Amino acid sequence: MTQSMISYPFSETLSLIFQMFPSQPINLREVCSEFGIRIVLDKRLKKEGYLACAEGEKLIFVSSNVVNHHRRRFIISHEIGHFLLHRNKLFGCSDILESRTIIFNSHDQESEANCFASELLLPRESLISWIPNRRLSFEDIRKIASAFDISITFSALKAVQYSKTEDEILLCYDGQKLKWYSIANNAVRRNQVPKECPIPNIIQKYLPEEISGVWDEIYSGCVHHEYFHPYGNQTLILLSGDRK
Ligand SMILES: [Zn+2]
Repeated sequence: MTQSMISYPFSETLSLIFQMFPSQPINLREVCSEFGIRIVLDKRLKKEGYLACAEGEKLIFVSSNVVNHHRRRFIISHEIGHFLLHRNKLFGCSDILESRTIIFNSHDQESEANCFASELLLPRESLISWIPNRRLSFEDIRKIASAFDISITFSALKAVQYSKTEDEILLCYDGQKLKWYSIANNAVRRNQVPKECPIPNIIQKYLPEEISGVWDEIYSGCVHHEYFHPYGNQTLILLSGDRK
């Protein structure tokens, strides 16, 4: 790899990577090997991920605290982003987020590395071909997660953003408290989304698929409703119906 490639801007860098590694899911070990980067997973570190380049060594560290396979893939992709896009030689990263809204032209290198990781793992053009011409279900989201070797949460976030019907909202509750939500456009204001989960005992599997009256601020009539527990007390709720 030539030094000149490393200074290429965001989209050109990704295009070159995809030319070199066209198969999906992308093999991050092969990408790192191409650039002479060694991945170190067995050190317990303060932050989740680091990039360190010095004296001819190029290292990506992922803390041994991170045991989730998909989380590791996102962190490694984020550090590859720093390596290819940014000139600094040392990054310690504690703000590695799949869900952050990215502003291009931002000078925030953490945001840019998050965006790079997101595109590297789930390229927008490829994702669009997986989005059905109808409302999304968790079954669609599971297929996308499997095809790209990403988490269900990341798959759901991105799938909803590129939904063809734009009827879906994805909500994440931690226990009964709203953690975040994602939609295809910005037509839903935060104060329309219940801060407390309006369905009691969401952990229990006694929910009908169609629920009316619970999401009245957002939808008219019956709302199709699916839920998924990614880990811990977190619940993802995928809603679709006639948006107000
Ligand atoms: Zn970073």
